Amino acid sequence: MTAKKRILSGMRPTGKLHLGHLVGTLDNWIKLQEEYDCYFMVADWHALMGEYENPSAISEYAIDNVIDWISCGIEPEKSTLFVQSQVRAHLDLFLIFSCFTPLGWLERCPTYKEQLREVTARDLHTYGFLGYPVLQAADILVYKANKVPVGEDQLPHLELTREICRRFNSLYKKVVLPEPDAILTKASRLLGLDGRKMSKSYNNTINLSDSEEEIRKKISSMITDPKRIKLSDQGHPEVCNVNSYYAIFAPEEKGEIDVACRGAKMGCTDCKKKLSEKLNRKLAAYRDKRQGLSQDKDKIKDILRDGNIKASAVANETLKEVKAAMGL
Ligand code: SF4
Repeated sequence: MTAKKRILSGMRPTGKLHLGHLVGTLDNWIKLQEEYDCYFMVADWHALMGEYENPSAISEYAIDNVIDWISCGIEPEKSTLFVQSQVRAHLDLFLIFSCFTPLGWLERCPTYKEQLREVTARDLHTYGFLGYPVLQAADILVYKANKVPVGEDQLPHLELTREICRRFNSLYKKVVLPEPDAILTKASRLLGLDGRKMSKSYNNTINLSDSEEEIRKKISSMITDPKRIKLSDQGHPEVCNVNSYYAIFAPEEKGEIDVACRGAKMGCTDCKKKLSEKLNRKLAAYRDKRQGLSQDKDKIKDILRDGNIKASAVANETLKEVKAAMGL
């Protein structure tokens, strides 16, 4: 039997997880864990690089996020769930890579330039933030991951990992680290309540931990077709964000909603109420599981402790090979 190929992926514990994480990442992880040897990482060092002024919530979000992962269907029996900062070899390899990664490779990274432009609430002109992709390279290569699930916008980072990998193997004249390939994931079509990208910084999220009532309230505040003022106005579902939620969470209803909207047979209030019911029903099993796990945080800590031990064993082995190749 051939060994399963390995995957490394992670999330930064910088806030509560929302529906965008479910549709964009977790649904994908759930499928991948069937086919691959998955290492799912709580990327708390990465969180610190952005949240260094206010880091006290990171460890709480770490546990909260893992509760969401498991509630949604990530199975610790199939995948390794671990905390980046608890596996020391990430930092060792990060430092080794930092020694030979040219500054130009990092400065030209499109996401780096974009974040510096767009993030104004925090000062990201730091040494650590510039080196973010080097730590990412260490995260991936320390497990010799064969595949990394990435969105199109993350491809330059993965290319940088591949460049670092080639540079290491060529500098020390030994192929120690395999070049990982991308598993390209489709960008989530789910927008926030206000029609912008769903993000906690825009305060437009539906969180996985929201109660039924919170979801009802949030959906009732969603922006709809701006041209539909009265019930008798014919609607344009193709421009309505509520309708795009139907496409994702209740596709079986979408055709009927389209017809009713265009024919002015259904008001936006009823349309939203129906969507809330659908979504709440969809999240019911998840919510039950979340509630149970939230009351047993020791279980989550145990799962992560086991994951940290397993991840450390693999990572230390790679680090040993890396140091041997370098003659250290
Ligand atoms: S009826 Fe539904 S789909 Fe049509 S505009 Fe209103 S909320 Fe949107």
